Amino acid sequence: MTVPTLTLNNRTAIPQLGFGVFQVPPDRTADVVTQALEVGYRHIDTAQMYQNEQEVGEAVKASGIPRKELWITSKLNNGYHRPDDARRAFDETLAKLGIEQIDLFLIHWPLPTRYDGDYVSTWRTLVEFVEDGRARTIGVSNFQPDHLDRIVGETGVAPAVNQIEVHPYLTNEAARQATHRHGALVEAWSPIAQGAVLDDDVIGKIAAAHGRTPSQVTLRWHVERGDIVFPKTTHRERMEENFAIFDFELTPDDVAAISALDHGEAGRRGPNPDTFDYIPR
Ligand code: NDP
Repeated sequence: MTVPTLTLNNRTAIPQLGFGVFQVPPDRTADVVTQALEVGYRHIDTAQMYQNEQEVGEAVKASGIPRKELWITSKLNNGYHRPDDARRAFDETLAKLGIEQIDLFLIHWPLPTRYDGDYVSTWRTLVEFVEDGRARTIGVSNFQPDHLDRIVGETGVAPAVNQIEVHPYLTNEAARQATHRHGALVEAWSPIAQGAVLDDDVIGKIAAAHGRTPSQVTLRWHVERGDIVFPKTTHRERMEENFAIFDFELTPDDVAAISALDHGEAGRRGPNPDTFDYIPR
């Protein structure tokens, strides 16, 4: 199975399907990522706040897979938005992952009620990492339309991606469209709503019609809408299941029926980015 790539606004090619490691315990991460790489995943999505960058780096190194065949994303800890802290934290990310250059580095949350509402100087700091060659690509996560407008308006630099919560119960169209308006691609986090959509009747019927599982049909829905996904699982058979989504297609009616499951704000599994202000202690 070949995973397609999508071309970002800096002309780099990102694998459309990756593997997420949020809530993979650090002591299991090296093993889980090793298995994901064996299954065929070549794109890993981690974050400073997941506390497993070191173990991702160990698995990557042990795999022997050439660095240029892998896409690695990490994200800035909410506690390190001030430029000097962001610089230190970025140094640490590269050291923990054991790499000289990261493929994609994101501001994890905008935190508009923290740091006097200043996420712009944080964005400028990420721009430095591209300029000094240590980040191939930079982007943001959980940015609402006004947050995107502001960083682009004040710096003239558009992010390559906006990683936001998107799944059938929260299609998040306003944020998706704002992301596209800025020439960026959407990375859909919690693509199967942490499992919540897998018992859905509509998705179940579509899955049965294609002889596929609800998870495969949901991931395929994302892919056909042009978004990037990286489902998380600690089970190898699920890694294989989630990987096998490029040998079938949904009909336009299937896509529309899944999109119609949107519950709006009520469908959110995670926090609302406008008010989320968590800073790890
Ligand atoms: P997902 O939507 O990927 O769902 C993960 C859950 O679904 C786990 O409980 C997993 O269980 C289960 N699961 C996975 N595959 C299957 C399957 N085929 N059948 C049945 N159950 C399955 O949720 P995540 O929140 O982990 O999101 C994915 C990634 O997105 C994260 O790992 C992270 O990289 C990123 N993310 C980013 C955020 C951000 O703020 N930027 C926020 C949240 C996530 P099990 O492991 O037991 O198999």
